[in-house]
Amino acid sequence: METDVTGSGVVDKLLILQERDCSIRRINRELRDIPTRKEDIQSRLEEHRHALEAAKEDLKREQVKSKEIEVEIGSHREQINKYRTQQLSLKTNVEFRAMEKEIATVEGRIRGLEDTDLVLMEIIENAERIIRDKEQALKDEEEAVKRDLVDMDKRSTNMQSELGTLKGERGGLAEGIDPEWLKRYTRIFVNKKDKAVVTIENGVCSGCHMKVPPQLAHNVRKEGAMVTCDYCGRLLCAAV
Ligand SMILES: [Zn+2]
Repeated sequence: METDVTGSGVVDKLLILQERDCSIRRINRELRDIPTRKEDIQSRLEEHRHALEAAKEDLKREQVKSKEIEVEIGSHREQINKYRTQQLSLKTNVEFRAMEKEIATVEGRIRGLEDTDLVLMEIIENAERIIRDKEQALKDEEEAVKRDLVDMDKRSTNMQSELGTLKGERGGLAEGIDPEWLKRYTRIFVNKKDKAVVTIENGVCSGCHMKVPPQLAHNVRKEGAMVTCDYCGRLLCAAV
């Protein structure tokens, strides 16, 4: 631990500077995250597009099934026509009745296929309704995404201007601080990723949470004294 003598008010000035620096750092971080956040917003559309594509695939599959059934019904009907033609040339009643039985069997198959096709028609109607819903959902989401992207751009513009103001203020504040202390503070602030000047809370450095010897904790309250934490190198100030 060491106690340096500084000009009066340096700690206070550094605290104000640090407050601006923390805001600048936070805004820079947020600005850096904006492209990723925009991608996240855009990606919401992908989910909707995939859901719509899947629904369209479902519909297509059912339509193919229905088409196949209709083709099958058609070929059964042709078969019946053929039987009817053949019937004309049959010689005996026995042969005629046998053919009638064949025809009845094929007609039975046609009815079965028609029933299946009716069920498929309902499935298709349902699939078409699902597609309409999903198209609407995609449209709604496109609107929402557009709005969110506009908001994000507004936010970015506001942050840019806030950043400009903060940097201006920071420049003014820095000019009023002894260059040596400013250099020392800046070095610590850049290294520590959080704060360069921290409070002593209940005798503990709030930067590294190590115990500060009582006499140094006491020095912190002296006007013009600057105490450095031995463990983390941060500058210490009294808790408010
Ligand atoms: Zn410390």
